[in-house]
Amino acid sequence: MKVSVVKETAPGERRVALVPEAVAKLRSAGLEVLVQSGAGDGAWHTDDSYADAGATVVSRADALAADVMLMVGKPDTAAVSVLRPGQVVIGLLAPLTDPDLAAALAAAGVTAVSMDMIPRTLPRAQPMDALSSQANIAGYKAALLGATQFGRFFPLLITAAGTARPAKVLVLGTGVAGLQAIGTARRLGAVVSAYDVRPETRTEAESVGASFIELASVGPAAGEGGYARALTEDERMAQQEELAGHIARHDVVITTAQVPGRRPPLLVTEDALKSMAPGSVVVDMGASTLGGNVAGSVPGKTVLTENGVAIIGASGLPSSMAAAASAMYARNISALLLYLVSEGELALDRDDELQAGVIVSTGGAIVHPALTAAASHPPHAGTASSPGPSDQSSDQPDEGATRVVPGSAR
Ligand code: NAD
Repeated sequence: MKVSVVKETAPGERRVALVPEAVAKLRSAGLEVLVQSGAGDGAWHTDDSYADAGATVVSRADALAADVMLMVGKPDTAAVSVLRPGQVVIGLLAPLTDPDLAAALAAAGVTAVSMDMIPRTLPRAQPMDALSSQANIAGYKAALLGATQFGRFFPLLITAAGTARPAKVLVLGTGVAGLQAIGTARRLGAVVSAYDVRPETRTEAESVGASFIELASVGPAAGEGGYARALTEDERMAQQEELAGHIARHDVVITTAQVPGRRPPLLVTEDALKSMAPGSVVVDMGASTLGGNVAGSVPGKTVLTENGVAIIGASGLPSSMAAAASAMYARNISALLLYLVSEGELALDRDDELQAGVIVSTGGAIVHPALTAAASHPPHAGTASSPGPSDQSSDQPDEGATRVVPGSAR
């Protein structure tokens, strides 16, 4: 069976689905590996390094003709137009926020397998959890961006020229990315506080060195599948107001808050920004075209407020560390591919919980229950249904909206 690595075409995307190190493992499972020429360039892997690892370097047309295509993101329209029935595409397809792509792949008779739909709580799915691997990278990079932008030291420094106090960093949202941001800021010597609306995250945040902030005005808000639920309007306002007092006391704020199927919640308001000291930095990992966790953040840009606070719209962070992100993603996608293969051939079994979680379309039809359910109960306007790392462009939370958590709708 021919498995190919297709070069990513999304603007700014530098990652590649397989690194050379992963090629040998797939070959030893009886798979022939094709790599589109130049696919690894953005992650510093040359065609020669893939050839040395046992892959065949091919044209884009040949890569798109393989039995199974491995991608980081989604196939572009031109790629979809040349696919034939029976081919398999595996990538972060975000089918719940991009149902048109899922429909196009189904219409082409393609078996679409989405990495962002992996049931994350299944122990055997852990090595395949690309949302976690990429969020880890994003959290690390967010802390570094904050430290680089901040015009003072993160650690306590005692020198002949004076003493620098350690920076005070606040991390809002302590999921996978937030915990990595805390650990990274701590390793740089900052004093770190953290807050999350799920109280069970307290011990996790403390275990990586943060002091946990509890808000008196907002109760616990755990939702389904280990994620947070959307807050009510009253809870949101109370949270924003109480958080503002904490934000004002910090030098660097890193926001990572997400709610599946919703626009990222606004945690840092304009008033909170006004209360920060000049030279403070806010890194918004939720930045999206419709707004993020921070008022006025612009994805991919750093904006300076009138009172001298830098807001970094931190989007595309995993791609900015393409070598590390690709190495981790390659392990995730190889683990999933090998799980789907038996004796060198695909052995799809939709009775298997993990496989049912990731297979979006096959045999000319959309088969994922989350998509078929969403089609019969369309979400309200302004909501989305997937928390994929690069798909955060839903609208403000809508209390009656359909919510779909990856891996939960089986
Ligand atoms: P995420 O990206 O959906 O959200 C990031 C964080 O934002 C979450 O911790 C969430 O509680 C928080 N948040 C949402 N709204 C908020 C608000 N208004 N105020 C403050 N914080 C808010 O989450 P994630 O990092 O993908 O993971 C979420 C959970 O899933 C974590 O508990 C993680 O450990 C768990 N998880 C479990 C497994 C597993 O069981 N193997 C695998 C991966 C993730």
